[in-house]
Amino acid sequence: MRLPHGPTEVEWRRSARARRVTLRIDPAAGAVVVTLPPRAGRGQGMALLQANSRWVADRLGALAPHVPFADGAVVPLLGVPHPIRHEPAGLGGVWLDDGAIRVAGDPAFLPRRVADWFRAEARRRITPLALDHAARIERSVRRIAIKDQRSRWASCAPDGTLAFSWRLVMAPGWVLDYVVAHEVAHLREMNHSARFWAVVASLTPHTQAAKAWLGRNGARLLRYG
Ligand SMILES: [Zn+2]
Repeated sequence: MRLPHGPTEVEWRRSARARRVTLRIDPAAGAVVVTLPPRAGRGQGMALLQANSRWVADRLGALAPHVPFADGAVVPLLGVPHPIRHEPAGLGGVWLDDGAIRVAGDPAFLPRRVADWFRAEARRRITPLALDHAARIERSVRRIAIKDQRSRWASCAPDGTLAFSWRLVMAPGWVLDYVVAHEVAHLREMNHSARFWAVVASLTPHTQAAKAWLGRNGARLLRYG
């Protein structure tokens, strides 16, 4: 869509719970999301977009650039930048070597292979952390799910299933440690009470710094792949 400050990707949503027309930025999609309450028309959304087109353009312009998984792209693993290198002569799969993520096979499948590798890598790194933290508070992890949920980094279900965004494995290890400790602590306290935060503090010293890091850099992690 063409707004006064340039072409803009717009996603339209309709929400039964919305009380008024709202705009928000979706960093993963690089788009502005217009949410309409049940009886509002698109015209109202358009009016709000037009009135706020400067804000929309500024916010979209401030997003980190989209970095697709491709030969030569640089992506973080545990906070360390790693270039992706296509290895046509490689024997198969994806492997780490000499600070690079190396990908064999047909280049057409490289993005999919790297994405699958990151999910597997997230599971490899998160599982021992979760089991270790859980053992320290004498709880057991029922299941670990690796997802690509964009609205939150992780969650803990009442049945003891912990879910994590694979993108967390791009963050520094101490940030990952905090997020895992946070979810494991919910196995003791299914709330965010002072008792809950005391459990988190018993598991990791990184809470404040990790929250700050995610606040500053979290949106950037959504721009990879
Ligand atoms: Zn929580």
